[in-house]
Amino acid sequence: MSYKRTEISKEQVARQLAVCEEIKRELAAGSRAMVDTYGCQQNEEDSEKLRGYLAAMGYEMTDNEHEADVIVINTCAVREHAEQRVFGNLGALTHTKKENPNQMIAVCGCMVKQEHIVEKIKKSYPLVSLVFGPDELWRFPELLQRAREGKKRVYAPGEGDGCVAEGVPHLRDGKVKAWLSVMNGCNNFCSYCIVPYTRDRERSRRADDIIAEARELVAQGYKEIMLLGQNVNSYGKDLDEGVSFAELIRRINALEGDFVIRFMTSHPKDATPELFSAMAECEKCEKHLHLPLQSGSDRILKLMNRRYDAEKYLSQVEAVRSCIPDIVLTTDIIVGYPGETDEDFAATMRLAEKVRFDAMFTFIYSKREGTPAAKMEDPFTREQKQQHFDALLELQNRISEEKHREYIGKTVRVLIDGRDREEGVLTARTLGGRLVRISGDERLIGSFAETRIVDCNTWALRGELI
Ligand code: SF4
Repeated sequence: MSYKRTEISKEQVARQLAVCEEIKRELAAGSRAMVDTYGCQQNEEDSEKLRGYLAAMGYEMTDNEHEADVIVINTCAVREHAEQRVFGNLGALTHTKKENPNQMIAVCGCMVKQEHIVEKIKKSYPLVSLVFGPDELWRFPELLQRAREGKKRVYAPGEGDGCVAEGVPHLRDGKVKAWLSVMNGCNNFCSYCIVPYTRDRERSRRADDIIAEARELVAQGYKEIMLLGQNVNSYGKDLDEGVSFAELIRRINALEGDFVIRFMTSHPKDATPELFSAMAECEKCEKHLHLPLQSGSDRILKLMNRRYDAEKYLSQVEAVRSCIPDIVLTTDIIVGYPGETDEDFAATMRLAEKVRFDAMFTFIYSKREGTPAAKMEDPFTREQKQQHFDALLELQNRISEEKHREYIGKTVRVLIDGRDREEGVLTARTLGGRLVRISGDERLIGSFAETRIVDCNTWALRGELI
C-alpha cells in the first residue's frame, strides 16, 4: 500500500513553541485550560501533547469547564455512543460560554476526520471556534492563535496520509506509568472499524527518537512504559531502518533502570515468533499478550477482513505459549457481527473454551457509518445478540476465576501503581498485567514489591506484601 510519508521537521515544531511563547506574553495571569479526552490510549497520549502545548502557553490545567478559558475536546469515532456524548457535552457548554463569552472551545480527534461531523459542528455548534484532526495536532498553537484572533472559525480536519512530528511537549498524568507512541495509523481496514479512515496510514516513529524518549521517561522515574500503536506488530515496516518491533523491544530493554515495557495493540496476522522470543528473553518486557481474536468463526473473520482464520490464531497461541508457558493471554471479541449465526457464535465459544484466555473484552457489534460492515444485512435482534454476549461473558468469567485461583500461594513481583479509593487498598500489576490489590502505605506507589497471592475473584488477585 503506497503512501507518502510526511515527517514534520523539528524546526516546524520549534516554530509552534515560539507561538506558545507569543500567546504566553499576551495571556492574562491565572488563565486555565481543560482537555476532555474520549476513546483509546492513543487519544490519551495525544491529550498529553495538547496539555504540553497549553502549559507552554502559560495555561494552568483544570477539570472544571466553568473555570476554563480554553476547552479542547479530544474525540473518538470508534463507537456511535462516544459521538453522541460529545455532542451532548458540547450542548452543555453553551452555558459556560454564556458565563464567559471569551471562552475558546476546540474539537479535535478522530470524529472530525468525518466530513458529516465537521458540517454538523459548522451548522449547529457556533460556540466551537476551532476544529482540527489528529494529524494537525502538531500545529495546535498556530491554529489556536488564529482562532484567538477571532476573525473567523478555524477548520483543519487534515488531508493526506498522516504525518510524524517529533519534539511536541507532553504534560503527562501521573508519575508511574507513561504512554509512548511508537506508530500511528492502520492499514488493515477491518470491515467494522473506522480507525483507518480517521488515523490514516501506518507510519512509524524513528527508533532513535523512541529510545531517546524511553530513556528520558526512565530518567524521570517512570516505572512502566506502554508502547502504543493501532497495530504495533507492523512497527518499522514503513521505514528503511530495519528495526522490527521485536528489535525495538530489545533496544528499550537494554536501557539502564528498573522498569516494565508493555505494548498494545497486536494483530494476530502480524505477531511473529521473533516477537515472542524477544518477550521471553527481555526481562523488562511484560509477559502478557493482548491478541484481539474478534470471532472464532472463519466465515465471520473473512467478512471482518481480519486476514487470519481460527487455525492461524490457534497456532499463534501455541507459538507464544511454547515461548512463554505462563504468558497471560487476553483478547477482544465482537458479538453479533452482521449475519452472525448461532453456529458462528458456537465457533467463538469453542475457541474461547480451547484457548482459555486470562481475560476478554467483549463488545456487541456497533455499526459505524463509513465502514463496509455498516452496509451489511443485519437480521438478528439486539436481544439475540445480548443472549450470546451474556453466554460468552459467563464462560469467560468462569475461566478467568479458575486462572486466578492458580496464583493463590504463589509469590509474584508487582509494580504498585495506584490506590483503589473505594476499597482503600493499593493497586498493583504483575509482569503479566494481572491486577493485584494489596494493603499498604501509599508511599509504596511507584515501587516494585514481592507479593504472596492469598485470594482472588474473577477480576483481581489479592496479595500480601512480603
Ligand atoms: S487492526 Fe483492524 S480493528 Fe484494529 S485499528 Fe486496524 S482496522 Fe481497526
